[in-house]
Amino acid sequence: MAETIIKVDLKQSAYENDKIHNRWHPDIPMAATVKPGDDFIIECIDWTGGQIANNDDASDVRDVDLTQVHFLSGPVGVEGAEPGDLLVVDILDIGTFEDSQWGFNGFFSKQNGGGFLTEHFPEAQKSIWDFNGMFTKSRHIPRVEFAGLIHPGLIGCLPSAEMLAEWNKREQELVDTDPDRVPPLAAMPYEDTAHMGRMNADEAKVAAAEAARTVPPREHGGNCDIKDLSRGSKVYFPVYVDGGGLSVGDLHFSQGDGEITFCGAIEMAGWIHLRVNLVKDGMKKYGVKNPIFKPSPITPKYDDYLIFEGISVDEQGKQHYLDVNVAYRQACLNAIEYMTKFGYSKAQAYALLGCAPVQGHISGVVDIPNACATLWLPTDIFDFDIQPNAEGPKIEVDGSVDVPLAPDL
Ligand code: ZN
Repeated sequence: MAETIIKVDLKQSAYENDKIHNRWHPDIPMAATVKPGDDFIIECIDWTGGQIANNDDASDVRDVDLTQVHFLSGPVGVEGAEPGDLLVVDILDIGTFEDSQWGFNGFFSKQNGGGFLTEHFPEAQKSIWDFNGMFTKSRHIPRVEFAGLIHPGLIGCLPSAEMLAEWNKREQELVDTDPDRVPPLAAMPYEDTAHMGRMNADEAKVAAAEAARTVPPREHGGNCDIKDLSRGSKVYFPVYVDGGGLSVGDLHFSQGDGEITFCGAIEMAGWIHLRVNLVKDGMKKYGVKNPIFKPSPITPKYDDYLIFEGISVDEQGKQHYLDVNVAYRQACLNAIEYMTKFGYSKAQAYALLGCAPVQGHISGVVDIPNACATLWLPTDIFDFDIQPNAEGPKIEVDGSVDVPLAPDL
């Protein structure tokens, strides 16, 4: 077995582990160094650092401190990596910890984080998922079980100083267009809860004031939340600083396309086994600005779907011009409405779209004025027939339409 170069203790505060950080900054010191061709294991805590508990009360989701996220393991330096190279990362495997066989999914309250459907689900709720080998099910969402498409929600290299300055500039310009918005338009640097890894206290204080938050995906990859970037994938990351500085975290047991519930997929602590190599000067050679990757040769086999269409006309009937965001929201709302006909509460249906191997597709972006997006719901995750037929839907789940999941108590 490969060497574990970063270890975590789930009982310890993330702030006490100097091989963990929660901001992006070029000067965060490497937590470990490896050579091209090496493979190694990195352990990760869950993205919130243990703020969410395995129980039936969503007050922890409601009160979560989002300035602390995401806790990442790293950065790992790779000998010989220089700006302009591509860091080739093989995700050899990902697994769960023996004493942590569960994950969580939640909806943030609109006042603290929000989510893709926050106008429809403004209160905090959560569902807990138990792992059984490669399968998962939830006591909060009956009659579904599926195989995990396990992946890191967040992985990427440290930015250069120039790139960091550019991120801060463009995100601040966006926030300035509506500075009082709830939830905010972007998460700007925030010093108080920054964890700058092995940086000494004085340097960390200065750097934290400008260090980027980990919330959005950016040119380096970062928080892309791509379910198909799963174990078995090969990723090509742009390198911006000497050594590259690869960090990873936010492990997901499974996720639907879009991670629409925001808190988040099925979130877990666990370990990831990686191998690194370099393509010298690869960014220029291949014209790479954002990461590219090859998918895993192994994926859960769900090939029958019920596919919901959505167009860019919003809930109030307003026409939007080729707006894919509005169209995907409608596809999701259509799927939720459909699932309630089988007895699921709306919250159960929403949670399922965030957790199950649901596919989202951009289907049409030219047919003015409507974009068309589709939501692909795998039918085989249900232990009953969820397809339409002449008899009409049969109530299969002992729930009811507006009962909350695990509410905040
Ligand atoms: Zn996540």
